[in-house]
Amino acid sequence: IDGKVMVTGGGGYIGSHAVLALLDAGYRVVVVDNLVTGFAWAVDPRATLVEMAVEDPSIRDVMAEHRVRAVMHFAGSVVVPESVVDPLKYYRNNTAATRTLIESAVAAGVPHFIFSSTAATYGTPDKVPVAEGDPTRPINPYGMSKLMTEAMLRDVAAAHPLNYACLRYFNVAGADPQGRSGQSTVGATHLIKIAVEAATGKRAAVSVFGTDFPTRDGTGVRDYIHVSDLAEAHVAALKLLVERPGDSHILNAGYGRGFSVLEVLDAVDRVTNLSIERRLEGRRAGDPAELVADNSAILRTLDWTPRRDDLDGIVRDALAWERALAERGR
Ligand code: UDP
Repeated sequence: IDGKVMVTGGGGYIGSHAVLALLDAGYRVVVVDNLVTGFAWAVDPRATLVEMAVEDPSIRDVMAEHRVRAVMHFAGSVVVPESVVDPLKYYRNNTAATRTLIESAVAAGVPHFIFSSTAATYGTPDKVPVAEGDPTRPINPYGMSKLMTEAMLRDVAAAHPLNYACLRYFNVAGADPQGRSGQSTVGATHLIKIAVEAATGKRAAVSVFGTDFPTRDGTGVRDYIHVSDLAEAHVAALKLLVERPGDSHILNAGYGRGFSVLEVLDAVDRVTNLSIERRLEGRRAGDPAELVADNSAILRTLDWTPRRDDLDGIVRDALAWERALAERGR
């Protein structure tokens, strides 16, 4: 493409990996991040960083100045239990801010939009693995805030010259295998990040939220996908949007297999040679028992092959980044 890709949230966890995947594939990148949860140092120096909120209308000038041809929109809030206690934060940061961003993209004539959606749009699926055509009935405001954005994109694409891809992420984990980025989130709540923090002494133990789910060992089952595979899926989605400007896509991004919380913690123990203390606790608000992707659509649709489908490998990469953070005093 003869312009740049705008990556919102490029200073954050998944966004910073998408920046790397885009740069590695030869794209030019402008990052927009308000640096509330993201970090300027997480943005590869080959990209231009603009410190700005996505809902700032002057983002249109950034789009024009950098001749932005596609927006990859990662900026948002991602913690399910937080969304239950502060739903308006999620409808502001995920739904309302994205509405304004889409409006800016349309006004600036940006033809392609890639959105970070979530498996939380499904709620508690009737069947697992869950497919894109299955009912979307979110059981928490996080999932609803993202589903509302999917609806906006559908309607906007029907009315304006813009096509889109919504990638419904399952559980994203791991870090760049080359050690260039990883999850640096302060006060993280996601399981593998928490577990590697425990492994490096940042916390004393790991809580297991819920031991009475209808799953094989009573703990929640999730489909953990390596962040670098996910980042490459975005690049593949961008290629497809450019090749077929009339078509838009909603695609599950997962590997199609699930691990329980206890299986994840076993993997962390195996990789670290530790036995990290587990505290069995009650269920967390808004958590479904099991979320596993039917990933046949993304495998069929995109020129993308997952290369890092290995739980121990995901944990190893996450751990390496956690150790690097500790060395840097972060
Ligand atoms: N979980 C846990 N302890 C933690 C964090 C998460 O037992 O410290 C569980 C959580 O209840 C869910 C799974 O791990 O079953 C994945 O949760 P996470 O917050 O990583 O992602 P989510 O699926 O909520 O997006």
